[in-house]
Amino acid sequence: MSVSHLGCRECGAEYELSASYVCSRCFGPVEVVYDYADLTTDIASLRRRIQAGPQNIWRYADFLPVVDGPPGPSNRKSSRAGLPSGCTPLIRADRLAERLGLGEVWVKNDAANPTHSFKDRVVSVAAARARELGFETLACASTGNLANAVAAHGAALGMETYVFIPSDLEEQKVLATGVYGTNLVKVRGTYDDVNRLCTELSGERDWAFVNVNIRPYYAEGSKTIAYEVAEQLGWTTPDRVVAPIASGSLYTKLAKGFEEWLKLGLITGEVPVMNGAQAAGCAPVAQAYADGRDTCLPVKPDTIAKSLAIGTPADGPHALDLARRSGGTIDSVTDDEIRAGIRLLAETTGIFTETAGGVTTATLAKLAARGDIGADERVVLVITGEGLKTLDAVAGSFETHEISPSLEAFEREVEGAASR
Ligand SMILES: *Cc1c(COP(=O)(O)O)cnc(C)c1O
Ligand SMILES: [Zn+2]
Repeated sequence: MSVSHLGCRECGAEYELSASYVCSRCFGPVEVVYDYADLTTDIASLRRRIQAGPQNIWRYADFLPVVDGPPGPSNRKSSRAGLPSGCTPLIRADRLAERLGLGEVWVKNDAANPTHSFKDRVVSVAAARARELGFETLACASTGNLANAVAAHGAALGMETYVFIPSDLEEQKVLATGVYGTNLVKVRGTYDDVNRLCTELSGERDWAFVNVNIRPYYAEGSKTIAYEVAEQLGWTTPDRVVAPIASGSLYTKLAKGFEEWLKLGLITGEVPVMNGAQAAGCAPVAQAYADGRDTCLPVKPDTIAKSLAIGTPADGPHALDLARRSGGTIDSVTDDEIRAGIRLLAETTGIFTETAGGVTTATLAKLAARGDIGADERVVLVITGEGLKTLDAVAGSFETHEISPSLEAFEREVEGAASR
């Protein structure tokens, strides 16, 4: 295992691999630090080892913060048990590229995870590390998808779960969480209120809050999207990645994944241009980017993209830094643009995404219209969630015909209506 310790991103202080998330010296965020010295010897055999691994994120176990070995006859209680996540399709989207006047666009469809969002990756890693640390209860503060994932992974592992959500969440996300038999707590307030409550509770209960006290491990799960994309593109990086931003964890960890593998020589290319995407109704990072600031001002969310509705993003400053040093941007799109983005992706690729994917697709369209993307660029669009979870966003966006069961009715009311 190459996982080494927790390190403070601000002052570099080092800590053991426990359930902690802030530096006790400077209150900066801590993250997982690895020592890859043993991995650099033979790149060809390292690639072969990855390719021979399981069809899920644990093929990248060398780069993840778990110490226990893989499941097997002698390791029935392996921390890597439970619902397998990852290995989602990377689909070439020529019709979308053509519609936007772009050369080469790929869609990384993370709706193809067990609970239909990229949150399965981060929960797989968080739950594995929580088990290693001896926790028996998983918990989270969620904007929706994390609730689904924590409830499902907890069920698969036989762990008790508590999930806390804002009370105004989409009904589909509430139902797709409760079904797993979790303790589902609706909090009257915004996600930021929910998060504050969970931070307080994490000091009072001996629970693994995946995105609070286990956050450093949780966050590492997002790197696996970068690893998969690089592997799927033949051990090379794309030129540009467009990804959504809520707390900024996914966006920044994508870059960390590419950076780690480039440094090891496992892949060729450069760190992609990183474009971040937010909803205009909750765009603290895009606003700070536009204003040329290094930090975000808190906002009160008002957008249909509820899964991205975090008004005080923990990784905001880090995301701003990444956008600037990678040559990217952080843009925001309106609710109408989000709805159009969902339709654009669906009509050109056959992929139905939730509002967060509408944000990402609309941002790609905006970058294309602005002329930011070169004709020979290879672009990856990161689609993080499933359209069936946010059905209201497309209700009334298309016409249907209801007819009596006769040829005459079909010709008159469907074909006749079309030619009128
Ligand atoms: C949680 C989430 C994100 C982004 O999350 P970060 O907090 O920025 O890591 C993106 N898309 C969907 C669908 C999500 O549920
Ligand atoms: Zn520190």
